[in-house]
Amino acid sequence: MNVHEYQAKQLMRKFDINVLEGGVASSVEEAVDVANKLGGKLWVVKAQIHAGGRGKGGGVKLAKSIEEVREHASKILGMNLVTHQTGPEGKTVHKIFIESGCNIEHEYYVGIVLDRNTGMITMMASSEGGVEIEKVAEETPEKIIKATINPAVGFTPFIGRKLGYGIGLSGDTLKKANKFFNSLYQLYIEKDCSIAEINPLVTTKDGDVIALDAKLNFDENALFRHPDIEEL
Ligand code: ADP
Ligand code: MG
Repeated sequence: MNVHEYQAKQLMRKFDINVLEGGVASSVEEAVDVANKLGGKLWVVKAQIHAGGRGKGGGVKLAKSIEEVREHASKILGMNLVTHQTGPEGKTVHKIFIESGCNIEHEYYVGIVLDRNTGMITMMASSEGGVEIEKVAEETPEKIIKATINPAVGFTPFIGRKLGYGIGLSGDTLKKANKFFNSLYQLYIEKDCSIAEINPLVTTKDGDVIALDAKLNFDENALFRHPDIEEL
């Protein structure tokens, strides 16, 4: 089972995973309202559909004024968004997420999947975030760092350092990324996820480590344990 980005981010917040402030809207007026409440000078208007690749398809737009929030919201709401994950028929956008914008320094990729063959969890990270990870896997597989996690042992700081060093982090950013990986792993386990994918995870000019996108899939066989997620 799949949830929207804004729902995934609400859940991540509960696990102390760093995400930006934002709110969901189903009309242009609501979107403007959310942006005004968020304040600041930069916002991002993001189509909420169950598919990735929204940016390339015109479903993620940066706004530098409330007027631009209004313009983007009216274009994106109701649009038929076609991405490499929707198929040629596309998906209609009924909801948008208005999020505070941030000054990106670098975009990374982080993902967690279950390897059913070994019964182990694989955590992956790459310095090549923000783009299709399938392409990175095909063209430069050495740029994806993998760590195997035994679920009986769980996440250890060693794994976080392996992934963090592997994608070129150091110092304070490495520490923050390690905490981020750990929290994402805890969410993955506690909520019975089948996939957790953060693309991009970014470092900012202010030295923060933040999830700008979030894809969570849940194991349907375990949904009875999670009424809160089933409700979504
Ligand atoms: P998708 O993967 O569906 O295209 P993302 O949420 O990854 O959608 O957004 C696409 C790109 O937009 C990101 O790679 C990032 O560069 C930019 N972006 C997304 N959210 C923000 C934000 N809050 N602030 C600044 N840039 C953002
Ligand atoms: Mg993305």
